[in-house]
Amino acid sequence: MSAIDGLPPLREVIASHDLSAKKSLGQNFLLDLNLTAKIARQAGDLSGMDVLEIGPGPGGLTRGLLAEGARKVLAIEKDTRCLPALAEIAGAYPDRLEVISGDALQIDPLAHLTPPIAICANLPYNVGTELLVRWLTPEDWPPFWQTLTLMFQREVAERIVAQPGSKAYGRLAVLAQWRTEARIVLSLPPGAFTPPPKVSSAVMHLRALPEPRFPAERAALERVVAAAFNQRRKMLRAALKGLAPDIEDRLEAAGIAPTERAEQVSLEQFCALARALA
Ligand code: SAM
Repeated sequence: MSAIDGLPPLREVIASHDLSAKKSLGQNFLLDLNLTAKIARQAGDLSGMDVLEIGPGPGGLTRGLLAEGARKVLAIEKDTRCLPALAEIAGAYPDRLEVISGDALQIDPLAHLTPPIAICANLPYNVGTELLVRWLTPEDWPPFWQTLTLMFQREVAERIVAQPGSKAYGRLAVLAQWRTEARIVLSLPPGAFTPPPKVSSAVMHLRALPEPRFPAERAALERVVAAAFNQRRKMLRAALKGLAPDIEDRLEAAGIAPTERAEQVSLEQFCALARALA
């Protein structure tokens, strides 16, 4: 694809801009443009969509998204060393790449984007879960984005799609499955990255449902799930006793045995409990 976009291969970009990877910024770069185009394709048809990318780094995925036809890419990058390399990409795709220099946790991207919007990123591991939870828990639903196509450590991806009864099942599974359809779409070994991380990775695709699967007030559901999984080995009547003095009655009203543990409770039951506590 370097021939398609006329830009140099990513190894040359890294060398010419002296972009040695910084561990503190979660930098594990994707340098294979065939792979970044493949990841971009997991987001679906991007023509006519604005794409928010967090952490473009030297721009491998950014180039994939642009080559796959995104109407516009808004890329937020904390490491200012990457800006000259990203400016070169912007030059090759006039008016289609906007780069914001800063911390994605502090920047509201909405003013820079026009719907429909997709989010696609090889996320920095240190902020990936926090961003995902923010995108899943706005007050209003549907959210500003239609799809999330995100790279995570394999273990985090498995927590997002986990079902009741498994060790991986917890807050992330409940929050993600309540409002989205979530799938693991690609698995990547450490060697796909430079430098290779210690663990395997996976690309997830999450599609926002038009409305949550079961009715519940968001804040109540978040409270119940946090309390239940903070003490996941305890019976729910003990783990949740701080939420209501008559918690056993509320659990029973939601069809949950007070002696059950969080790991066994389905999404539908958590939503019923959030309603019983609201
Ligand atoms: N997208 C590139 C790729 O696939 O090769 C780089 C991915 S690397 C895993 C994560 C990127 O996120 C790095 O470029 C890093 O500098 C950037 N980053 C880390 N923390 C960030 C933050 N809080 N806000 C924005 N970017 C951040």
